[in-house]
Amino acid sequence: MRVSTLLLLCCLGAVPLTVTAAAGDSIQGIPVIDRLDVESLESGKLHRLYFESVEMGSGQRWYVPVMVAKGAKPGRRVLLVAGVHGDELTPVATVHEVFRKLDPTKLAGSVIGIVGINRPGIEYVTRTWPIKNLGTTWINPNRVFPGKETGNSVERQAWLVMEKLVKGNVDVAVDMHTGGNGADFALFIFAYAGDAESLALADLFPVDQIKRDPGLEGTFEYALVKAGIPALTLELGGPRGYEPDMVKAGVEGIDNVLAHYGVTGQKVGRTAATVNAFRGNALVDVVADTGGFVEYLVELNDAVKEGQPLAIQRNAFGDLVQEYTAPAAGRVAIRGTDAIRERGSDIATILTNQPDCPPEGCPYPGYE
Ligand SMILES: [Zn+2]
Repeated sequence: MRVSTLLLLCCLGAVPLTVTAAAGDSIQGIPVIDRLDVESLESGKLHRLYFESVEMGSGQRWYVPVMVAKGAKPGRRVLLVAGVHGDELTPVATVHEVFRKLDPTKLAGSVIGIVGINRPGIEYVTRTWPIKNLGTTWINPNRVFPGKETGNSVERQAWLVMEKLVKGNVDVAVDMHTGGNGADFALFIFAYAGDAESLALADLFPVDQIKRDPGLEGTFEYALVKAGIPALTLELGGPRGYEPDMVKAGVEGIDNVLAHYGVTGQKVGRTAATVNAFRGNALVDVVADTGGFVEYLVELNDAVKEGQPLAIQRNAFGDLVQEYTAPAAGRVAIRGTDAIRERGSDIATILTNQPDCPPEGCPYPGYE
């Protein structure tokens, strides 16, 4: 073996080759970027880009669709995110609808849309991101932010998004989600109470419910606010399908955000105050404590009293085996949709006000 080959082998082994998008790369005519720089994009135009993100098991890359409506005039830069969870698709329709109405020649500032940070999740319509480790391991992407440069695929994806897409490009952010399979979410906001601007952002949305929240480590929202970017998590109904009423409500709130920050020059319309949104400081889960077939007795956003029946559960012979009641007064924030409820799965979650919560609200680890 020649010395030069030996040297090459030694160095290839020791130094990871990081091949990123070359200047001028494109996929089907759409430019490929390995970092976003909104400042450098042409003003008064809509830009469609593919963000070259983390590599798959084969070494090939995932490409995340990014849209930027770069205003003719400078101003605030608003980020809209869909698809951190891959089966939450009403947020995708919401981003599309917002962008359909934008005219970059009339904007002061920019709107950035990211559709499908969780690329495999979008392709296979699943909440989690499967990585090829110990067979397949399913990872919740909304628990790994702000990510890790040297982490697994999902952790690195989160790191790439934070470092190469978000930082330096975003002034305020809306991360959109829905409930998961078997349980739908109301029109709901997790409002981070540690930051006045994030709280004010939540007030711009004419939603049914707002939870005052201390933030949850690992969520995209919490990573954003920790990076100094006011943000919220907006929940828009159930997974998989498009829910037109939720799209409409999401767009209405985002229109207000763009108006509030002077991006569109329009006026703020209906807000949380207009619709008298229910505000709470705690989410309390009611979970199945046995298996069986469930009949739900309440709907999403119903006002419930403490002790009010939420659901009954029967065995395979039709006998009543369990009754579930509201542990506190409040609103139904999450409600099961599947008739089969295994032990531990969600029957309903109530947004309530608990006197023993700290001022920033009680934590809720079940963030969607
Ligand atoms: Zn989600």
